Amino acid sequence: MCKKDFTSKTIRIGKNQPRDIDDDLYTHYALVNPLLYNVITCPHCCYTSLSKTFDKLLPKQKEWLKHILFTLQKQNLTPSEHPTIEEAIHKYKLALLIAMTKKSKIGEQSYLALHIAWLYRELQDSQNEQHFLKKALDGFIETLENETLPILGFDEHTVMYLLSAISYKLSDMETSKKYLSTLLVASGISPRIKNRALDLKTKLKIN
Ligand SMILES: [Zn+2]
Repeated sequence: MCKKDFTSKTIRIGKNQPRDIDDDLYTHYALVNPLLYNVITCPHCCYTSLSKTFDKLLPKQKEWLKHILFTLQKQNLTPSEHPTIEEAIHKYKLALLIAMTKKSKIGEQSYLALHIAWLYRELQDSQNEQHFLKKALDGFIETLENETLPILGFDEHTVMYLLSAISYKLSDMETSKKYLSTLLVASGISPRIKNRALDLKTKLKIN
């Protein structure tokens, strides 16, 4: 956005191995939660985004962002190098606000909403978790219908699986079954998603 240099922390994979994966693919790691480092804020202009999409800005998006960034700059935010979960939630919300302002794909906005839900899960704040799960669900439905996939590593089958898993978490069993049934008859589904889908099928008690 402002073309100035800055450094940010990232996770070296190595010893930080996955420990457990929730139904909606939230992965718990042994040592550090990589989610805390996936969103970066430029200390000069406050532009905030997933590191994966950070340097992809079109001239008209920069124009749309000018006003909001000017407002943020006046708040003197000092992004911490090692964010707490609460600070990470704040950064993801900033990234979501900026993603909406720069009119990024609904898929990217839903990806951010899902990650915010996961961070609230870490805080055992189920009310906010459910609120952001619902946002992610609605967004991914729109993504599946209207946008080109994959987005941020989520292909069509992963999004379909997520729709089923998120609905399951929100106790909407009908929607969950609907997407799972479609997914289970799809061809070319990866073994990873297939196995997850079969686990979810057992939980949903589908014959
Ligand atoms: Zn900047």
